[in-house]
Amino acid sequence: MGKLILRDVKKSFGMAEVIKGIDLTVEDGEFCVFVGPSGCGKSTLLRMIAGLEEVTSGEVSLDGREITGLAPAKREIAMVFQSYALYPHLSVRDNMGLALKQAGTPKAEIREATDRAAAMLGLEALMERRPADLSGGQRQRVAIGRAIVRRPKLFLFDEPLSNLDAALRVQTRIEIARLHRELGATTIYVTHDQVEAMTLAHKIVVLRGGRIEQTGAPMDLYHDPDNIFVAGFIGSPQ
Ligand code: ADP
Ligand code: MG
Repeated sequence: MGKLILRDVKKSFGMAEVIKGIDLTVEDGEFCVFVGPSGCGKSTLLRMIAGLEEVTSGEVSLDGREITGLAPAKREIAMVFQSYALYPHLSVRDNMGLALKQAGTPKAEIREATDRAAAMLGLEALMERRPADLSGGQRQRVAIGRAIVRRPKLFLFDEPLSNLDAALRVQTRIEIARLHRELGATTIYVTHDQVEAMTLAHKIVVLRGGRIEQTGAPMDLYHDPDNIFVAGFIGSPQ
């Protein structure tokens, strides 16, 4: 259902080419993790998939439909950011339901969808609060809830745990793994953290300078990295 295909996707900002031709298939239901050094283009690639950044050339298709030029709201893709990006003046419930409201979904249906997401994430008691009255971990759960409510075919996470402390990172990672099992939705997840990559991924994509350096199952990359660069991110300590 949510199979994503990228065909020779490139991106330039002015004269600088930052994504230099990405070919990638993420299978329906697959959990795909992007790793790579800062500035290698992970966020730009996610933003192009989400439609938040225009593709300079190449094609993006989801579920057999080409979406390269489509507006973000029409893509059936939800993105969770590192910075939460919640609306401070809206309650948790209204933050979570906003996209549905904008799409003209009936009120009762929005209520049901936000209640369901709240139950999955343990947010039931916080629904009438504002983001400012939540902890960092709770805010990140609201951001995830907002993505779930839209029932996307594809979830995109851009370093969602990097603002959390170590204990919360572990807890939230386990929650994300559980949600993925429950929802079975295709997911792309960007992280710097080797443990996150190893424990969450079906497939890891190692990026370097706007290109794919190596793609493989976590254990294959761990035991058999193509080169020292890949080993530096995923490989077993020498
Ligand atoms: P990552 O997420 O892997 O750290 P980014 O995708 O944020 O990398 O950035 C990739 C490259 O593109 C960097 O060199 C960055 O400076 C550049 N870049 C990203 N966004 C813009 C922009 N809006 N304008 C110009 N350059 C950008
Ligand atoms: Mg980034």
